[in-house]
Amino acid sequence: MSDIQCPVCSSKLETAPTPHQKYDALTYDCPQCGKYVLEEFADTNRELYDSKQLISAWIRLQNKRGNNGPFISANFSKEDWFKNLRNMGFPQTVNEKLDGLLKAYADIVRDDYDKMVKTIQHPTLISDIAGKNYEEIKGLNRLLAELEYLWSEPSHPNEHIRITAKGWQRIDNLLKPSYSSDLAFIAMWYDPSLDNYRESVKKAITVCGYEPIIIDDVDFNDFIMDEVIQFIRQARFLILDLTCSPEIDIQANSKVIRGVRGGVYWEAGMAYGLGKTVIQTCRDDDCSKRRIHFDLSQYQTIFWKQDELTTEIRPFSSHISNPTFTERLAQRILATVGKGNYIAPG
Ligand SMILES: [Zn+2]
Repeated sequence: MSDIQCPVCSSKLETAPTPHQKYDALTYDCPQCGKYVLEEFADTNRELYDSKQLISAWIRLQNKRGNNGPFISANFSKEDWFKNLRNMGFPQTVNEKLDGLLKAYADIVRDDYDKMVKTIQHPTLISDIAGKNYEEIKGLNRLLAELEYLWSEPSHPNEHIRITAKGWQRIDNLLKPSYSSDLAFIAMWYDPSLDNYRESVKKAITVCGYEPIIIDDVDFNDFIMDEVIQFIRQARFLILDLTCSPEIDIQANSKVIRGVRGGVYWEAGMAYGLGKTVIQTCRDDDCSKRRIHFDLSQYQTIFWKQDELTTEIRPFSSHISNPTFTERLAQRILATVGKGNYIAPG
């Protein structure tokens, strides 16, 4: 335990921050906020001070999405970033916080329904709900217990809690819009060179209990757009492949230049906007990697090579040595969205 405090939430840090490799900034690992990079910054900055809870919640959200080094720039204070933080959908009212906290408990418990959550051991709960401090968590636990969504252990009132049957019903209702289907949408470049990738992704998706949905971009026009929007809305998650290749014959495909696939980015933006889980993949080649737009380069990407595309998947019951891309993708799906109920015909 060091004596250094997190400049965002003031928690004591277990390890001192380390200098960032590239920028004049420090990398922090805070028990409450998570991991982030903070540029040399006046800590007394009024706007920063006023927005601390929201910044902590923002870092937590980025970490949950797989970005383990969200960058807080000194320039942010001059921008509308702080104002925008207020419109990013973090819980503000007490009811939003109650719902947010209940969902955070569901994330911790997963399917271990007997699990007793010792809330003091989860400082990230505070940033999950953009809360002030641990006392607020205890207060919200009391309210959740009054609503009969939580059972609280008498020896540790409002601190050791378990989700009740009524609580699970509430969680189900909260999650329904995004959990309405076992569809998985694949956003990718439709090129014959990616046929094996396509089969491999379909396999990983079906093994995990989801139905792969893929719409060829040759059909991309106004008519099909509504359908795409509908599918992305319904999808439980989205696989986004950023593989591309520069166009040489511009005349043959006048809309695609410099190889970046606009349609794929459009679908990604839509999915992120709807709060869907997005799993990014990309061919492990220089051409594709260098074209990943900086908006997406901050999220974790699973890179693949042509020779590891397979439609064979070994059982996950035992440890898999040297997993192929298909196996790594399936493991990521199970880890982030869990198992679906779809059974592939045949
Ligand atoms: Zn912190």
